Amino acid sequence: MSISSTTTMGAIFRGWRKRCPGCGEVPLYRKFLKQIETCPNCSSELGRIRADDFPPYLTIIVVGHIIVPLIVMTEKYYAPPTWVHMVTWLPMIVVLMLIFLPRLKGCAIGMMLKLGLTGDERQGFEEDD
Ligand SMILES: [Zn+2]
Repeated sequence: MSISSTTTMGAIFRGWRKRCPGCGEVPLYRKFLKQIETCPNCSSELGRIRADDFPPYLTIIVVGHIIVPLIVMTEKYYAPPTWVHMVTWLPMIVVLMLIFLPRLKGCAIGMMLKLGLTGDERQGFEEDD
């Protein structure tokens, strides 16, 4: 099993599971967000892929769409003091970010690996202005 034998959605789903997008057998990360250099099972070169700001951007969108409606509904129906909002939502935001960020980074890496992107595509191009 390698990246060429899977679909783009398959590679993205394997990344969501924090597994190698190429084979789905090996853990994608050796630390919290540091991906392995090369998959020992399918030889996918994962270390050269730089997703940069895309995973945090996705994480902000996803967590924002979960938290903001909850905050608005809580304020509308219960109107608790501000300190209740702070002790409720801030830890929940941190926990959701820690859950979603590695998974969404895995999705980005899976998509980039399948599409042959590394994040260095602009290297060698000079700015026009
Ligand atoms: Zn693999």
